[in-house]
Amino acid sequence: MKVLVAAPLHEKAIEVLKNAGFEVVFEEYPDEERLIELVGDVDAIIVRSKPKVTRKVIEAAPKLKVIGRAGVGLDNIDIEAAKERGIKVVNSPGASSRSVAELAVALMFNVARKVAFADRKMREGVWAKKQCMGVELEGKTLGVVGFGRIGYEVAKIAHALGMNVLLYDPYPKEERAKEVGGKFVDLETLLKESDVVTLHVPLIDATYHLINEERLKLMKPTAILINAARGAVVDTNALIKALQEGWIAGAGLDVFEEEPLPKDHPLTKFDNVVLTPHIGASTVEAQMRAGVQVAEQIVEILKE
Ligand code: NAD
Repeated sequence: MKVLVAAPLHEKAIEVLKNAGFEVVFEEYPDEERLIELVGDVDAIIVRSKPKVTRKVIEAAPKLKVIGRAGVGLDNIDIEAAKERGIKVVNSPGASSRSVAELAVALMFNVARKVAFADRKMREGVWAKKQCMGVELEGKTLGVVGFGRIGYEVAKIAHALGMNVLLYDPYPKEERAKEVGGKFVDLETLLKESDVVTLHVPLIDATYHLINEERLKLMKPTAILINAARGAVVDTNALIKALQEGWIAGAGLDVFEEEPLPKDHPLTKFDNVVLTPHIGASTVEAQMRAGVQVAEQIVEILKE
């Protein structure tokens, strides 16, 4: 059995494949032409968000039985073409949940205590003690929009921090909510009552610009918005207006409607906004888990 690893993969994942007796060929992000050359005799391909596994690539791989995506989205794989050939597609949706959750919490603390702002001032030689008055998170209310894998992890941490937890999800999971001391409410109540609102919904039609002008106006002027889901869940122009006019107190953003965020974008001008470049899943542990989970599924399928 031969596995083509077409993207950087954690060494533990490579070990899983080798221990199963598979031959492993590694080439980082081959283009379509090169991929077609490489797949002629492989039983499995592993990719990340790149490279693209197109219909042409799949047609050039007569032995292919499984495509593994170390991570979540499957947009770079032609699922339809794979299905037609009975090729299985596997991924690792939960591998980065804790990492994304920890980043969301890091952003909360950062905005609440003005860490990035203070750091910028220190480097300018300014001792901005007076401008750095912050707020505590303990005793405050966190509103989690989207109580899935990541939302659950965030709620768990918030509960441990002594925060009250409000939840909004069209598919409420009451048992899980109990574990984190959370209470399901409607979105309007969540927005009105939360001191921090954190978004963990998928980007689908129903969540496109879910946080718009009208909903930002429902939030407390002291509230913080965190978005580590997808940029377009928030209407960026409405958020800029909300920050300019003080409808909310600040924001922590890992994702943007336009990525990379253009230099000099209006969002870069606010002292009370903390920005990170879509690094929610960028931890050693998440990368390792993503690789190993996919490798294990591939071993299982190829050994069937
Ligand atoms: P999940 O599927 O486990 O959870 C999503 C939850 O959202 C579900 O409980 C679902 O019922 C709920 N939901 C669906 N529509 C909703 C709506 N209209 N309003 C409120 N809730 C709604 O997904 P997850 O693993 O927790 O990931 C959530 C999102 O986080 C992903 O879709 C992805 O966009 C994003 N993400 C970001 C990063 C990053 O690097 N920042 C990394 C991984 C995932």
